[in-house]
Amino acid sequence: FPVENIRNFSIIAHVDHGKSTLADRLLEITGTISQEASNKQVLDKLQVERERGITVKAQTASMVHQYQGKTYLLNLIDTPGHVDFNYEVSRSLAACQGVLLLVDANQGVQAQTVANFYLAFEAELAIIPVINKIDLKQADVESTEEQMRRLFDFKNEDLFKISAKLGINCEEILDAVIQRIPPPKSDPSKPWKALLFDSTYNHFRGAVTNVAVIDGKVQQGDKISSAHNSKVYEVQELGIMSPDYQSTQELHAGQVGYLIAGMKSIQEARIGDTLHLSSSPVEPLPGFKPAKPMVFGGIFPMEQSEYRDLKVAVDRLTLNDSSVTVAKDSSPALGLGFRLGFLGLLHMEVFNQRLEQEYNATAIVTTPSVPCKARLSSEKLIKQYKTDEITIFSPAEFPEKRDVTEYLEPIVMGTIITPDVHLNKIFSLCEAKRGEQVDFTYIDASRVLLKYKLPLNEIVVDFYDLLKSITSGYASFDYEDHSYEPSDLVKLDVLLNGQVINELSTIVHKDKAYPVGKTLASKLKDVIPRQLYEVVIQAALGNKVIARETIRAYKKNVLAKCYGGDISRKMKLLKRQAEGKKRMKKIGNVDIPKDAFISVLKR
Ligand code: GDP
Ligand code: MG
Repeated sequence: FPVENIRNFSIIAHVDHGKSTLADRLLEITGTISQEASNKQVLDKLQVERERGITVKAQTASMVHQYQGKTYLLNLIDTPGHVDFNYEVSRSLAACQGVLLLVDANQGVQAQTVANFYLAFEAELAIIPVINKIDLKQADVESTEEQMRRLFDFKNEDLFKISAKLGINCEEILDAVIQRIPPPKSDPSKPWKALLFDSTYNHFRGAVTNVAVIDGKVQQGDKISSAHNSKVYEVQELGIMSPDYQSTQELHAGQVGYLIAGMKSIQEARIGDTLHLSSSPVEPLPGFKPAKPMVFGGIFPMEQSEYRDLKVAVDRLTLNDSSVTVAKDSSPALGLGFRLGFLGLLHMEVFNQRLEQEYNATAIVTTPSVPCKARLSSEKLIKQYKTDEITIFSPAEFPEKRDVTEYLEPIVMGTIITPDVHLNKIFSLCEAKRGEQVDFTYIDASRVLLKYKLPLNEIVVDFYDLLKSITSGYASFDYEDHSYEPSDLVKLDVLLNGQVINELSTIVHKDKAYPVGKTLASKLKDVIPRQLYEVVIQAALGNKVIARETIRAYKKNVLAKCYGGDISRKMKLLKRQAEGKKRMKKIGNVDIPKDAFISVLKR
């Protein structure tokens, strides 16, 4: 394919607005996949994606389309919609010249639509606005058009109105991709140069990289290197995804595809890196802004003997998800493990689920925390840290009040889009979460866009769930980091039978210490099963206990409940008890279920 017959594009949208469905339709229309029901959501390959119905990992697929007598190669890069995975979105966009901006006609423009629009706009991509789900009875195409006019300056005649589900007007989308999105700026006669925009780890092949070829061509057997790493690799296999891996002779200027060259680690297959032939180095591409983790959590093996296995699994999974940061960690109660940084709580949960499903690793994840800062006043600490401003990643590192001039916490800029009937409830919620309103705009007759400065600590756990529930699902939310601001922070300790459990402790705003302490204690009471002896749960600020719960010891044998006779029921109970034990971790003298740390925070 000559470069002028190639188009690289992405579909961006708020979650559930129909990206994966439209991707399926486009692949069907071009004959890339068959129309069987089993082919639904072909780009969502991970088990966690199919189970949760969300896209986590960007995928690519190449297809061929005829237009005005010419044959075109269209490379589609699917992107995740959730705010936690925005990093994947901006990465995919770097390999594209244009996007389809998809909006659900029933829901209208949502917070992530706005965020995604600006990502594409700032990357100077061609944007094709598409209103989806016009087949729905509740579809409000007119209001959606008005929102897209007001917010993004689109003209009515530029808008496409489709049903991805029924395939209405979808073929026109392919034509528009060809008409309105420019071909990549590539030069086939220059030496080979490619952007490594993603990589996945394969147990047998090592790193499988996704590349967008800028100039020249590459073929099997070529010796290649990257701009950040002078090692020489031999290309073992390359090809396109259509949507499964399909090896080809070569990849040439303008193409998007995969390439396997025996790279083994994240350092070797660095996302954003520029690849070139070893014999002809090139000017490197600008690369990507590194992802900035917003939520930190410890991860520890159930048994110390499983540490190595966990390390291997974490290494491989971080190769597939380069937005996770990894540092070694150790804790008196949990032994050796890792401190991982995630882009959000969903990201953390998904990572954990992938560890179990794809790498068969069971791990304990500690209570998530956000990185606070402290300006130190103590000469001793300043000497020790060699700086007077430290970042605190876990409650164990929280310096005492007498040693600091002030604490600071991360603040985000949140965008909420909502029907105006819910405004009062949203105002109360944001106030309760220590939010500060900075913008209020009507985007059509009845919908409002709000901007709030909010402490990350307040929104990281349940803000989104609360917002959804008070608005019956009608409000949407997105955020980006904003600043660090002074804050009255305290360390809230959790004690089990008198022993401080750092892994359960948390850093909170002074005004939240009492309610959070009460909730933590009562939730722990719910998740920790009865033990052979009494367990006392306390939440404390320094020496001051602010909440207390007691779990009474169990006296009766569990089997006492099944009045002798029923053997199979007895076996079932014994089995369940044994399984329960396996998922427990002894901390001090108390058995704690492995998901307690994360579940106490959720509603
Ligand atoms: P994504 O999160 O953007 O990838 O959205 P999906 O493609 O997974 O779609 C979310 C839901 O909307 C699914 O239940 C789809 O079947 C449904 N959906 C997608 N497009 C349409 C459409 O044109 N009409 C209707 N009625 N439903 C659609
Ligand atoms: Mg999807």
